[in-house]
Amino acid sequence: MRTDATTVKPSARLPLAPRPRKNFAFPFLTSRRSRWHIKEVFRRREEPKSWIALYKVETDGLEHDCGPADGVYLSPMQILVIGTGYVGLVLGACLAETGNDVTCADVDAEKIDRLTRNELPIFEPGLDRLVAHNQGKQRLTFTTDVATAAAKAEVVFLAVGTPPGEDGSADLRHVLAAAETAAKYLKRETVVITKSTVPVGTASKVAAVLAQHCRVPFHVCSNPEFLKEGDAVEDFMRPDRVVLGVESDYARSVLAELYAPFVRTGKPILFMDIASAEMTKYAANAMLATRISFMNEIAMLCESVGANVDNVRRGIGSDARIGPSFLFPGPGYGGSCFPKDVQALLHTAREHNVPMDVVRAVESANDRQKTLMFQRLSTAFGGHLEGVSVAVWGLSFKPQTDDLRESPALTLIESLLSAGARVTAHDPVAMPHAEKLFGNRITFAPTNYDALQGAHALAIATDWNEYRHPDFLRIRDAMTGRVVVDGRNLYQPAKMIALGFTYHSIGRPQV
Ligand code: NAD
Repeated sequence: MRTDATTVKPSARLPLAPRPRKNFAFPFLTSRRSRWHIKEVFRRREEPKSWIALYKVETDGLEHDCGPADGVYLSPMQILVIGTGYVGLVLGACLAETGNDVTCADVDAEKIDRLTRNELPIFEPGLDRLVAHNQGKQRLTFTTDVATAAAKAEVVFLAVGTPPGEDGSADLRHVLAAAETAAKYLKRETVVITKSTVPVGTASKVAAVLAQHCRVPFHVCSNPEFLKEGDAVEDFMRPDRVVLGVESDYARSVLAELYAPFVRTGKPILFMDIASAEMTKYAANAMLATRISFMNEIAMLCESVGANVDNVRRGIGSDARIGPSFLFPGPGYGGSCFPKDVQALLHTAREHNVPMDVVRAVESANDRQKTLMFQRLSTAFGGHLEGVSVAVWGLSFKPQTDDLRESPALTLIESLLSAGARVTAHDPVAMPHAEKLFGNRITFAPTNYDALQGAHALAIATDWNEYRHPDFLRIRDAMTGRVVVDGRNLYQPAKMIALGFTYHSIGRPQV
């Protein structure tokens, strides 16, 4: 059943009810601070650990019937998160931080083993503290045993990967496999939520799997995640909005209560039909990717006509209709989301015979942009890069993450190696992952200055803060050559040229 999107702010009618004592037998509960008290509690089911109650509240002598929408959890929600990657781990840790009882499950036994020792498999600012704190409080558990965790779960999040298939479609195998595993062991009425980015129609596929394997009532929902790697904890704790595709009142009330602590400043929870929630995620990523590709094209034109993209960016970004975010030109967008989600959106459009010329152009503009740094280096050396030594600063697709997926730095390095160049790379956090990828095909330097020893050229692929104000004299002394290709516009062209560098940035005059 479809309903229109509505904005619901968390209920302010009741403070959270006190947690029941063991053998809780509907005592007469009274708030110490206010003049309300619970007169009567009706258990929802005859289960000993049932937590959703319907109750009667007396405020100032008046009685009200309350139900789940009023926030009546009497004990922590039992949550299972399947898939403990960038999204699942942040989700699990943040939900535990607000008092829920969370189990994070993954098929990767080594990852789970490390997590039980508070060793994080990914770099994400602030996440290590949350994981250690909540594991210490026994609100956060890691396991490979989905069966046991599913048996007590009331809410299940599917947060596994949805990599692109060969035809660009989102590969749903992990999502459906995770749903099937959980379904076999669920023992209580459960809200099952697709947190992974999945195309429209996936919730129905998940529901079909559950219907086949599950013996208890279930409610499938869509709850796309908008966190940014590098700011993931902050984004989850203080989201701009929470999008919830729900089609039952039960799921709506459970999720409203689960998310209430995260939207206390008045940010909206947007309830909508499931198809719209699924589509919202793709529309958001395609829009952001469009802004980046658009600015990359404007930058190229700026170079040709003698304009400065920095000025143009400020000029348009201050227009309230446009806004300043995602207008920085660069070496092309990367990461685990934009490239695959743009592809998946185009695939959905093809399936439905809907032309999406803008989105297709975004993708091809980005493919072209990812070759730009290599072209600039090649031109700087007259098309002959054999034996040229290039220092690459930055490997991750953006700063504050160790995620290398679809990173423009990888495209650059592969092209340099194919052209016979030697590469020495530095990244503050992503080198261990890069070592697995490149082995000894490139050299890794412990500091960014070490990477420059004997280099003919420096290429900056990621705008890590520590690269923003370097010791330029040290750079000049360490390098054999003077070529700097700055894919992130970190430095002022006039200063670089005055220092004797041959400096190439994106969309700015050469001075
Ligand atoms: P990830 O690859 O980092 O993690 C996925 C995890 O799922 C892995 O640890 C894998 O071992 C596990 N897994 C796979 N199959 C499983 C199964 N059957 N049972 C248990 N575990 C299983 O992926 P991610 O970056 O966290 O992304 C997850 C989803 O969230 C994707 O759909 C992605 O598009 C979406 N998303 C990602 C981001 C992001 O910034 N990374 C942001 C928003 C949404």
